[in-house]
Amino acid sequence: MKKTLLFLLLSSSLASAQMQPFLLQDVKLTEGVFKNAQEVDLKYILALNPDKLLAPYLIDAELPFKAERYGNWESSGLDGHIGGHYLSALAMMYASTGNAEMKSRLEYMVSELARCQAKNGNGYVGGIPNGKVFWDRIHKGDIDGSTFGLNNTWVPLYNIHKLFAGLRDAYQIADNQEAKKVLIGLGDWFLELIKPLSDEQIQQVLRTEHGGMNEVFADLYIITKESKYLDAAQRLSHQSILKPLLAKEDKLTGLHANTQIPKVIGFEKIAKLTSNADWSGAAQYFWQNVSQTRSVAFGGNSFREHFNPINDFKKMLVSNQGPETCNSFNMLRLSMALFLDKNDVSYLDFYERTLYNHILSSQHPEKGGFVYFTPIRPNHYRVYSQPETSMWCCVGSGIENHSKYGELIYSHNTEDVFVNLFVPSELNWQAKGIQLIQKTNFPYENTSDLTLNLTKKQAFTLNIRYPKWAESVKVLVNGKVQKFDAKPSEYIGLKRKWKKGDRVSIQFEMKTRLEYLPYDSNWAAFVRGPIVLAAKTSTEDLKGLFADDSRMGHETKGKLFPINTAYALVDEPENYLTKLKPIDNLNFTLDSLHLQPFFDLHDARYQMYFQTLTKEDYEKQKEIQKQNEIALLALEARTIDKINCGEQQPEVDHQYKGEQSNSGYDDEQFWRNTRSYISYQLQNRNSAGKYLEISALDEFKIENIEITINGKVLEILSFENKKLRIQLTESDLLNLKISAKNKMPTARMTQIRILKN
Ligand SMILES: [Zn+2]
Repeated sequence: MKKTLLFLLLSSSLASAQMQPFLLQDVKLTEGVFKNAQEVDLKYILALNPDKLLAPYLIDAELPFKAERYGNWESSGLDGHIGGHYLSALAMMYASTGNAEMKSRLEYMVSELARCQAKNGNGYVGGIPNGKVFWDRIHKGDIDGSTFGLNNTWVPLYNIHKLFAGLRDAYQIADNQEAKKVLIGLGDWFLELIKPLSDEQIQQVLRTEHGGMNEVFADLYIITKESKYLDAAQRLSHQSILKPLLAKEDKLTGLHANTQIPKVIGFEKIAKLTSNADWSGAAQYFWQNVSQTRSVAFGGNSFREHFNPINDFKKMLVSNQGPETCNSFNMLRLSMALFLDKNDVSYLDFYERTLYNHILSSQHPEKGGFVYFTPIRPNHYRVYSQPETSMWCCVGSGIENHSKYGELIYSHNTEDVFVNLFVPSELNWQAKGIQLIQKTNFPYENTSDLTLNLTKKQAFTLNIRYPKWAESVKVLVNGKVQKFDAKPSEYIGLKRKWKKGDRVSIQFEMKTRLEYLPYDSNWAAFVRGPIVLAAKTSTEDLKGLFADDSRMGHETKGKLFPINTAYALVDEPENYLTKLKPIDNLNFTLDSLHLQPFFDLHDARYQMYFQTLTKEDYEKQKEIQKQNEIALLALEARTIDKINCGEQQPEVDHQYKGEQSNSGYDDEQFWRNTRSYISYQLQNRNSAGKYLEISALDEFKIENIEITINGKVLEILSFENKKLRIQLTESDLLNLKISAKNKMPTARMTQIRILKN
């Protein structure tokens, strides 16, 4: 009896201190960049056709469909994934805005999915092509998985995870009761599916990208309180990622970045439910490494979708495939989970930085299109999606990103309110009769004004975040300056008996800093407060600015401008910052360039990172860069088609198939080999390419390899310096098959190119 009472007292005091988010329904955005982004997103959501998104589900359930499915990724294997994201976006946009059309579309989508589920009869509903055959093989333990293919199907668990998450959000955020039923049916079907599998077999399944399957089963436990779901969440946790994190080892280099982050969100959720400090420590360790050592100034991480070595960002600097938006979408979800769990304000510094500079910047502010890659390559640009043509992952996470800006502007515990972000908005804490109106033009101006509207006088602490970037903060209550001890990355607590009409005014002082790429790089970005600055450099050759429906429509097609022609800061280091001349709070001139907030910069090539050099270094470097760049550009100019072996997207785009194949990352390159065969399809338009060149990390042994194109065995011209060359016969479409002979693995192949000469 006594014990229970003590436990109750302890848990209630813990609960009272526990940070809680407000519901999206409680926070309304008012005029500003975030409200604009929300409105533009709403239009984009309306432009998507629910019947087209539902078609893959109806086709799989053998029900008549009402509209043709979308093209692009929605009809090349990932069929149905946007439908899952769409449920989440509708639920969040409805909660944030109260828009009735969002609600009715959500109800329609869920009822159609319920109809598919009823027709399937076993709880299953999904859009994966030939889903029944695919899942039956898994159920029987027939598992052949690599990083992005499971039994030659493109990331099926990643796909169905979007549906799980969408149904969860429809129920938890928009109170759609039918979604709860469909979700539980789907969860129970999945439990039956994996029942015969050993833990080892499940780990084999988890080798392939699977979103946050462990997280959604933890959510099913939260919803139902049935322990079978929590058990499943633990079984579905990928041990080869978890174990090094538990040992506080960073083994992330070379791994597909966005595959890992959702797993860690799952570890943290399970940790919280099971009070497992080790798993939570693993999640914190991951967050710490990714946010502090693997991220660039705007908050994004990785290049070509993979984590680069922490001491080398050179390849990110030259790539047209910079950080992917999905990664930051998931890093913000992890930051929010850890912030709420640990009551630690430093998670918000990263959250705010990434929110402005990556998430907000990833949406076209008028047309609403979403960005996939944000290159840091100087004088490069980004591509925007279009509702009819683009069905990529970053469109799915994109429609969600801009529907939930209210999630963390404020938070609370049992008594007190916390102001986390300086975003124009209104908070309505109905249970307490507290309304808080925040008026601000931040970051264009360095102030924010709060007005309290209370039903009755009441005592509580109004906590104002003291951001890490602020040089100083001044707080006034009803015009009177307040004293406080708080430091950056803490809260300034204003404890008093508040009454209706009380006003709090916050004034920041901020500086501009140069932030270097990690590890003795001489490339740096200008950051003002939390805002990354960049310069528009040109609008030349923005090929593919608005994506078509091609497989790689999300990648820029315009030329790469040589890096040695980019503006560099050439001077003594103490003079770099003084070269900036202010126009206003966020606009500066830098010699002939105009620096502005990156989130405001669109439809143009830009420069965000600048090389810093003394005059002497500058001359030396210029010559070396020029030679390297000429060699690379010449190779690209001779290239008709190319595949980076072992990288997800290029391989999917070239219809990769294979057996007994391994892929990895060594010597800063991705590779793939095989003990059986691998095959790709390459385009050789007008038979312009004359040679096929395969590069590898090892020397080729031609007695152990056979190469066929369109079924014909081809003679190998040369095989030296880890390169193998073959003369091509005339054909526009090349079905390339590389087979291993004598049971010996092939060399670790890194790149396949079709060359003109
Ligand atoms: Zn993505």
